Amino acid sequence: MLTLHKDDSRLDDVCAAAESACNGISGSHEWPVVVHPHFAVFKARGGSSVFGTTYALYLRDIDTIFVNSANFFALADDLKTAVLIHEVGHAYLHATKSQDTDCFAADIFACEHGQEDSIVKERSSLGDGYVDALALRGSPAAAREAFGVWFNQKRVGLI
Ligand SMILES: [Zn+2]
Repeated sequence: MLTLHKDDSRLDDVCAAAESACNGISGSHEWPVVVHPHFAVFKARGGSSVFGTTYALYLRDIDTIFVNSANFFALADDLKTAVLIHEVGHAYLHATKSQDTDCFAADIFACEHGQEDSIVKERSSLGDGYVDALALRGSPAAAREAFGVWFNQKRVGLI
């Protein structure tokens, strides 16, 4: 079960949607979701990923999800939900000490919780290799391997 503690009524609908979509996660988990106007301050703490969005992020050391008031609320409702569930994925993977806690793993978490259409649309700019790797998530080792191939090609500028 998932409970999100929000500090802003603009988060009511998206948090309710995320809680509902993630209701089946094992265990009982709760995280604060905080609206923040100045995401630039988080850069100094080091980015959580090489390709995370700036719409939202999860800060592991204080176990809190932040949404960026500068752009999050302008997103379409379904993308808002997908973005929030991606961050819930980071928090959940960290809490459950999963082997992989990066954005690819968080994207898989989001896909597994009803967000595949939005995630695929949002990540299509990363190339077919990334989307194809996500599609392999039923076989975690194969998905991780395909992601590794994509990541290395991107790292050296082939994508
Ligand atoms: Zn991420």
